[in-house]
Amino acid sequence: MSSEPQTQIIPELREVTMHAHRPNDPGKAIITKNELCTATRKAAGFVRHIEFDVSGSGLEGICQAGQAVGVIAPGQDAKGRPHAPRLYSLACPSGGETGDGTILSTTVKRTIDEHWEDNSLFTGVASNYLCGTRVGDEITVTGPAGKRFVLPKNPGQHGYVFVATGTGIAPFRGMCLELLRDHPGVPITLMMGAPYSTDLLYHDFFRDMERTHEHFRYVTALSRQPNEDGSEPLYIGGRFSPTDGALVEQLQDDRTLIYVCGIAGMELGLFRSMVFDMGDDIALPYVAIDDELRDPEIRWDRKMMHKKIKATKRVFLEVYA
Ligand SMILES: Cc1cc2nc3c(=O)[nH]c(=O)nc-3n(C[C@H](O)[C@H](O)[C@H](O)COP(=O)(O)OP(=O)(O)OC[C@H]3O[C@@H](n4cnc5c(N)ncnc54)[C@H](O)[C@@H]3O)c2cc1C
Repeated sequence: MSSEPQTQIIPELREVTMHAHRPNDPGKAIITKNELCTATRKAAGFVRHIEFDVSGSGLEGICQAGQAVGVIAPGQDAKGRPHAPRLYSLACPSGGETGDGTILSTTVKRTIDEHWEDNSLFTGVASNYLCGTRVGDEITVTGPAGKRFVLPKNPGQHGYVFVATGTGIAPFRGMCLELLRDHPGVPITLMMGAPYSTDLLYHDFFRDMERTHEHFRYVTALSRQPNEDGSEPLYIGGRFSPTDGALVEQLQDDRTLIYVCGIAGMELGLFRSMVFDMGDDIALPYVAIDDELRDPEIRWDRKMMHKKIKATKRVFLEVYA
């Protein structure tokens, strides 16, 4: 590894409580809201913002932005066992939607596929169950889970670059709400990547946030249609450009932290852009790469993470398939 990170401002993460409810001792919650959160009804996928009341359960008052809860769908799997919990990132700030720790929220995408065996329709168990719930329904929950993708102990001492694809936006909705509520002066850039503008999640919500908060920036990248700013289709990594002066300035600040959440593999494009387009001065405090990867012809893949591509302690990753 030729290029070791030069600057390391190591943030201390908050302490969190985990596993108040395990799968063998789950809690109950009541759905209080369930609404589409894609930019329009024309989006190719179905993604819903779902809120649920955890009053009286072990989850009340303990969940932090960035953590996830487990949801156990009713019924049994193919082997006749209860369904395993599926994890869903919280979309609310610490303290939940109402500040008293009772109403949590998440952002759920219906998993829809073709059966490998016979090309009939495959509908994922928990996501479709959750998206189909109605206000007043009782759901079975576990968690909270996760201690490495939360805000630092002293959130006001940092600046943030949040990068999301798909439902990876969920934790950033919660973190942005929390930071703007408790530390309105901290600089935040929220970047959201999607195939088409119709797939952007909470789009109007974040646009309003940008209008009303001086230090909050909202940047989108569409990969299958031209972008509003006139740029050609690009992945979110393409927004890590040396021509974005505000981003360059933010990344050069020793206090800045990068959080990445969404589709597994998105972190590679982002790191590549940082290394090849922005250059070592900007990239090295966040990512160090093996010498051989300095050849731009070499493809990066996820197996290289942690060995040949090392994110520093100023980067937090939560990526899932
Ligand atoms: C830390 C973490 C946070 C997460 N946060 C979120 C979130 O905020 N929002 C969100 O929507 N998701 C989130 N997820 C993903 C979520 O946990 C689930 O994995 C997802 O919703 C799918 O679950 P499911 O029960 O609907 O699908 P499952 O029933 O578990 O099926 C999942 C996959 O299995 C495959 N599959 C299985 N059997 C077959 C078959 N016979 N034929 C074809 N395909 C098959 C399909 O490809 C399908 O995509 C998160 C995951 C993690 C790890």
